[in-house]
Amino acid sequence: MIEVDRVSIRFGVGPGAFVALDDVSVTVKEKEFFTLLGPSGCGKTTLLRSIAGFIRPHSGAIRLGGKDILGLPPFERPVNTVFQNYALFPHMTVAENVGFGLAMLNRPKQEIARTVEEMLALVKMSPMASRRPAELSGGQQQRVALARALAPKPKVLLLDESLSALDLKLRKEMQIELKRLQAATGITFIFVTHDQEEALTMSDRIAVMSAGRILQIGTPRDIYDHPSRRFVADFIGDTNFVEAVYLDAGTVELPGGTRMSPRMPEGAAPAAGKVTLAVRPEHAQLQEDIADAPLSGVLDDVVYCGTDTHFHLALADGARFVVRRQNNPSQMAAFQPGQRLGIRFEPQAAQVLGD
Ligand code: ATP
Repeated sequence: MIEVDRVSIRFGVGPGAFVALDDVSVTVKEKEFFTLLGPSGCGKTTLLRSIAGFIRPHSGAIRLGGKDILGLPPFERPVNTVFQNYALFPHMTVAENVGFGLAMLNRPKQEIARTVEEMLALVKMSPMASRRPAELSGGQQQRVALARALAPKPKVLLLDESLSALDLKLRKEMQIELKRLQAATGITFIFVTHDQEEALTMSDRIAVMSAGRILQIGTPRDIYDHPSRRFVADFIGDTNFVEAVYLDAGTVELPGGTRMSPRMPEGAAPAAGKVTLAVRPEHAQLQEDIADAPLSGVLDDVVYCGTDTHFHLALADGARFVVRRQNNPSQMAAFQPGQRLGIRFEPQAAQVLGD
């Protein structure tokens, strides 16, 4: 539904110009909860602002429902934004804030009143309609900002780090609330965050960004289980990196000499030589038998974390490996620091990373 087609954006001119977006392409489907995820400064907000119409790309196209929208000013695009700081009007009541966009569009008073009522009910803020923003908590202000952005019934809602000002508990509540709102309204959401857990729990699909580029697009499960590059594997969740040698026909040799056929990156097979494998800590198990395990290491730390325990191992080549095991009181950890242990994982749990 939204097509961002080879968009590039630079700030400044000449040799000192900074490339904030470098040939970025992404298609967001109708009614999708789509997340742009990446570290601070990677270009998420710049991409969002170019969809909203606040920044004009230097090259490329942005289409909505097949129509080029680059020529349209922000207020003529069927797109609305919820900003990080909510940007509520302090002198207006909650109801006036929510009705503001509709009043600007010169909608009849009755229609505005009806929509404001409907939106406040949707975000559960009806009892506070006559308060001013200063009389609301952060979470309540966030709800009003959402209601205001939803009131003109945009086709697309852009949310820029919208939950980052909230404390953890409220943030978790609002995550569920946002998913509910999206399902109730059928509006396409494009959500920006640098919080990988938030992205994994909320999104239909995620685009992982770094330094002005999109590195991988996929469902949360795709991205977590099959990261295509080291950056993605490292940024999302915890990962062990194992340096191996690619032989041929999908086979690699691990540091101890074991051969296995891990998952290959999409596209061309790697060239023979060094490759890096990513293995999630919860996809590996420890065993006392070293001989038939693909890797082995010396256990040097056992960290109890409530729901699970992390076993930290030093491998022979100096690399580190962490195995995570869910805690079950009937199967207490029998492994002791100082022990040499075998590390086992299924070949399909090991992903060869691309460049
Ligand atoms: P954050 O999570 O910190 O908001 P972000 O991924 O949203 O980061 P952007 O705000 O898109 O990042 O910024 C991308 C890069 O472009 C940053 O390095 C930023 O300093 C730079 N940048 C953004 N706006 C401008 C501007 N108006 N002039 C110059 N550089 C800018």
